Amino acid sequence: MALQFFNTLANKKEDFVPIKEGEIRLYTCGPTVYNFAHIGNFRAYMFEDLLRRFLKYKGLKVTQVMNLTDIDDKTIKGCKAQGVSLAEYTQPYKDGFFEDLDTLKIERAEFYPEATTHIPEMVEIIKKLMTNGLAYEIKGNYYFKIDAFPDYGKLARIDLAGLKAGARVASDEYEKESVSDFALWKAWTPEDGDVFWETDLGKGRPGWHLECSAMSMKYLGNHFDMHTGGVDNKFPHHENEIAQSEGASGEKFVNYWLHCAHLIVEGKKMSKSLGNFYSLREILEKDYSPAAIRYLLLSTQYRMPLNFTFDGLDAAAKALRRYNDFWRNLAEFSGAGKGGAAGEFIDKAAAEFEKGLDDDLNISYALAAVFDFIRDINRLRSENNLTADERDRALQVLEKIDTVLGFQVQESSLDNESEIEDLVQRRTEAKKSRDFATADSIRDQLTAMDIVLEDTPQGVKWRKKV
Ligand code: AMP
Ligand code: ZN
Repeated sequence: MALQFFNTLANKKEDFVPIKEGEIRLYTCGPTVYNFAHIGNFRAYMFEDLLRRFLKYKGLKVTQVMNLTDIDDKTIKGCKAQGVSLAEYTQPYKDGFFEDLDTLKIERAEFYPEATTHIPEMVEIIKKLMTNGLAYEIKGNYYFKIDAFPDYGKLARIDLAGLKAGARVASDEYEKESVSDFALWKAWTPEDGDVFWETDLGKGRPGWHLECSAMSMKYLGNHFDMHTGGVDNKFPHHENEIAQSEGASGEKFVNYWLHCAHLIVEGKKMSKSLGNFYSLREILEKDYSPAAIRYLLLSTQYRMPLNFTFDGLDAAAKALRRYNDFWRNLAEFSGAGKGGAAGEFIDKAAAEFEKGLDDDLNISYALAAVFDFIRDINRLRSENNLTADERDRALQVLEKIDTVLGFQVQESSLDNESEIEDLVQRRTEAKKSRDFATADSIRDQLTAMDIVLEDTPQGVKWRKKV
């Protein structure tokens, strides 16, 4: 089956055909750096990570751009409130964002442009829109004239019949009900403090939507393959990007638009006022592993709402443990028996995994294939009917699959290994001398360090809880 995605623009699933064979140019809306990203944001970035990794798995060369929104209403408000410059205010959140990406094993994009260093490109677009009769100026503010662009509304399917011609909106974010001419450039006001640029358009700053048009076209060209974001970005942000980009270049902007559904918390929308608003850092402080968070965020198909719960996180940690235990045990297995049965399961795992993700990134289907594989190979191993050769082939498939999932947890990442070895040894000796109180207390100590012990015929084995 061909690779298919649900394209918001077409409102249906479509075969994916890249503009240039073997390559994909992809733009993913990045964080607004006025705060640390919350786990809802990471749902979007995790979906984009799965997308990127799977496209690479399919052999495509990926060029991904993710912007950093460092100029918008929120960042300006934040720096004014703290009495610091915009750059000083946003820097910790930019740094924090990259740290969080690494924590969650989200692969880096090829480019991370920042709005503050792309003002000339934005000014150029506004000039072109003025020339093309699609923008107008009022007191140093520039607006996009939506009734001069007949395609306006094609992405979010907005009926423009009731539109009041000339109604304007200046704020970066607004609801569908207030669809109107939107700001491309905002003239400086005292509210903006020292956030402004002196340009041919006057003194001011760009609107948020324009930033993404400028940075995507600069690095990917006027016409590129795919653009993604959360559903909240569909309108007005992405609708406005299309209007600005196509209005300026005269070319089609993007072929495929993919939007992920929201993450909600314990059944409710995540919001600061409900107190159910979590940054990644807060969840890690509760002693959940980054790998479990990665698993949870990845394991619901991107167009389905994801309900974040701590029970769900526990279940994710358990599934992850099964995956990693399987991998470790298989790697340690020396091979036994005549074999012959494993080949079918190995081929099926690879084919079904790919089939699931080919179908609009159906991760549930793909993961079911992986866990069927784990069950079947485990059975052959326990029946001593898996040769060393079959074991190697199974490991190869798992490794390939993990280039997409990124679920492997390396035991060698432990830095206190010798201390653990020592405790395990002391517990074994205590047990031998029937000092069960000491043995139990050492076990408790290890449990507190997230170390799990397993008594096996070959002796006690330990591993880090994932
Ligand atoms: P922002 O920093 O608000 O510009 O958002 C960055 C990205 O996160 C965008 O793609 C948003 O659509 C996405 N996003 C924001 N909130 C959520 C949420 N609760 N669930 C999923 N994605 C979200
Ligand atoms: Zn954007």
